[in-house]
Amino acid sequence: MSEVVLIRFNEIHLKGGNKKYFTKLLFNNIKDALNGIDCKVENIQNRLLVRDYQDADEVVSRLKCVFGVHSISLAEEIETSVQAIKDFVETLKIDGSFKCDVNRAEKSFPIKSNDFAADLGEIVLRHNSNSKVDIHNPQNTIHVDIRENGKTYIFSELIYAYSGLPLGECRDGLLLLSGGIDSPVAGFCMAKRGLRQDILHFDSFPYTSKQAKEKVITLARKIKPYIGAKYMYVCSMTKIQEEFHVNCKTEYAINLLRRAMIRVANALCYKYRYKAIVTGESLGQVASQTIESLTSTNSVAEFLVLRPLISFNKDEIVNVAKEIDTYETSILPYEDCCTVFLPRNPVIKPTIAEAEKEESKIDLKQMLELVINNIEVIEL
Ligand code: ATP
Ligand code: MG
Repeated sequence: MSEVVLIRFNEIHLKGGNKKYFTKLLFNNIKDALNGIDCKVENIQNRLLVRDYQDADEVVSRLKCVFGVHSISLAEEIETSVQAIKDFVETLKIDGSFKCDVNRAEKSFPIKSNDFAADLGEIVLRHNSNSKVDIHNPQNTIHVDIRENGKTYIFSELIYAYSGLPLGECRDGLLLLSGGIDSPVAGFCMAKRGLRQDILHFDSFPYTSKQAKEKVITLARKIKPYIGAKYMYVCSMTKIQEEFHVNCKTEYAINLLRRAMIRVANALCYKYRYKAIVTGESLGQVASQTIESLTSTNSVAEFLVLRPLISFNKDEIVNVAKEIDTYETSILPYEDCCTVFLPRNPVIKPTIAEAEKEESKIDLKQMLELVINNIEVIEL
């Protein structure tokens, strides 16, 4: 008998012929997440498990960040036999109402699930004078999972993770990470669907401070376990912003900056083979996120732009930010490049034609080359 961490997944079961591939991906991601912890990870049909660890809480807390994991249980592993399971259940101390929940994945097990649950229930009642059966709303549930590997796993609790799909092998996404509340959440949401991402941050040094950049590095490291990031690119937009400020209509400043950001992202996608750009935009949240503003920004994108928060309310975004522990960092009051040269009345309904006209007033190509050539790469 030994304690193990039993890991269940859900959406992978729908993957038909690709199930093996996705299970292997999850297996590898779990191994990565447990890096530095002395333990063994095993793939048993339709479940994964971790054994031979010291600190169960640490294992569980790392597994909760792994997408594709549906739920986790600390379980006792015993050899499958009617007598061995009964003997184990006999030792359980149960106080209050309970039910037994038997899952018979190993179909050669001789007793049907419901019948065996009733047998086990009787044993519990016999050995615990303060116990009673409650099928609908029990205080305790005794889960008995009889697997195909000749082992049975007995546990009382399911700890839920985020489900979703395991992160892919390649870092296909480029997350535009500001210092705000929204973009870390956007990265998290896309990672939940299996998109592994690196990070691109824009600053306007020296108008934005070193602390502002440090804050974003902190945020990047906080979301790294979720999004699987390896690199953060820092691109200084100062020169371009100064050009816009001197030569172009002030109310277009943010729209032009946004378009320039996407163009820089395009260049990185070509260079490092990212396939999609991720932003934390939410429809109508600010002037730069109206349909017209988004249309103008989107028109310069040469890759798919994913905006997972597009329909989120701010309080919904904040809830996720708190859940993933980025909120407190995000609200630290440092300036962002979008707040530098901020126009008093940013255009709410920009047009592509007008944006292009403003851009034609500067040598945009040369300015972009300049800022792209000076991108700093930080290994996270
Ligand atoms: P956030 O809370 O993510 O900062 P926001 O509500 O402040 O978002 P905007 O400033 O309009 O909204 O930014 C919209 C999106 O554009 C951000 O979610 C982010 O993806 C991207 N973005 C904005 N500023 C930066 C920046 N300095 N570096 C990288 N990406 C940025
Ligand atoms: Mg912002």
